Amino acid sequence: MKQHDLHALLDQAHQYANDYIDHIDQRPVYPDAEALEALNDFEQAMPQEGTDPAEALALLHRSGSPATVAQTGGRYFGFVNGGIHPPALAAKWLADTWDQNAALRVMSPVNAKLEDLCERWLVDLFNLPKDSAAGFVSGTSMSLMCGIAAGRNQILQRQDWDVVSQGLFGAPEVKVVLGEQAHGAVFKALSILGLGKDRVSLAPCDDQGRIIPAELPELDEYTLLILSAGNVNSGSFDPMQELCDRGRTANAWIHVDGAFGLWAAASPTTYPLYQGAELADSWSVDAHKTLNSPYDSGVILCKDRSALINALQATGAYLEFSEHRDGMLYTPEMSRRARAIELWMVLNTMGKKGVAELIDQLCQRAKQFANGLEKVGFRILNEVDFNQVLVACENDRLTEATLSAIQKSGECWCGGSKWRGESVIRISVCSYATTEEDVERSVGGFVEARNLYKC
Ligand SMILES: *Cc1c(COP(=O)(O)O)cnc(C)c1O
Repeated sequence: MKQHDLHALLDQAHQYANDYIDHIDQRPVYPDAEALEALNDFEQAMPQEGTDPAEALALLHRSGSPATVAQTGGRYFGFVNGGIHPPALAAKWLADTWDQNAALRVMSPVNAKLEDLCERWLVDLFNLPKDSAAGFVSGTSMSLMCGIAAGRNQILQRQDWDVVSQGLFGAPEVKVVLGEQAHGAVFKALSILGLGKDRVSLAPCDDQGRIIPAELPELDEYTLLILSAGNVNSGSFDPMQELCDRGRTANAWIHVDGAFGLWAAASPTTYPLYQGAELADSWSVDAHKTLNSPYDSGVILCKDRSALINALQATGAYLEFSEHRDGMLYTPEMSRRARAIELWMVLNTMGKKGVAELIDQLCQRAKQFANGLEKVGFRILNEVDFNQVLVACENDRLTEATLSAIQKSGECWCGGSKWRGESVIRISVCSYATTEEDVERSVGGFVEARNLYKC
């Protein structure tokens, strides 16, 4: 492709992007039936001759843009998704043009430099031990695997068992303790890593989903203790200080799943929820959720740098390691997107104050949502200390019908879940873009949806 053709194509993409941005608040949050039907426009056998790029791009915008979920607008509250901080989008465009491979410093000095900085800044932001290491991975699922693998290997090393060379056959047992409400991704990581998802010791949780310290199974130095900083339904935090103190005293390996909640550390208002988590050995956090960095962006943080590197063994005669930090030593992948570039942009343009304000804003909007819904007769089932709200009507049937009507309305979008046996509508306020007006309008959307079934 000639240079001027590339410029023209990028200009075309730029126009479509602006068009998308300009209309995000006027369109339904979830694509309507017509938009979904139009996805058939993509249906064809793989062309023998390549399609003209301008034409393919036009199709992508014409039939693709309307079939997106409008999660960059202010009224998407599904799962725990997060929006996209505008400066990070701009940085991503530039970085995409660079197409850097983040595996080795020699492959991308600029990415390596920004990984160094992000590592230092995050260690500081989360108040972690000074030499803690960071690996930049696709998300918390991968980050959990890294942290749990590091813990598993260290625990077995204490018993002179080298997992890297000997594997797990015949190895001593590793005791795994976690809350009965731990996220599915934790169980997935345990099963992939050969620790089994059903042979764990589950700690009973209270009505908010927090581990009850008095009922914590016994810990010792052969125990992997996995704590949750942010329950995926209620947003509650395990009592960090007490549990981390207990884990430290027992010399267990403590891993904290803080996919969206670890950011509580950034604001003085929410720091008390996080306090104590600094004492853990490893931490998982997503930049693509609460922080609003673009997908995909997760981080593994580990107090013992060599434990992480050891668990993610990388060898190959052609690998050219620099004297400094090479990204691939801290991640399972080799070739990898240079996601630290956008992360750096978010942290740099928000600053510590901006990150704190973002966290406070999300929490305030969640409280506003809960208060607004309570006033019009919905029940709020959780203590709204962070960004999650669990909502129910008088009975499961009405809750489920209301949720379905909300999802169809296009006014806003929420997912559903089960909470203590009851059907709930699950709200996650996760985007910088959500304004007070968005929350007000969404409360109105809830009322209208419920009215469809009440009369
Ligand atoms: C989202 C989430 C995960 C999984 O993270 P991904 O980035 O989606 O892989 C794990 N734990 C918690 C608490 C989460 O919210």
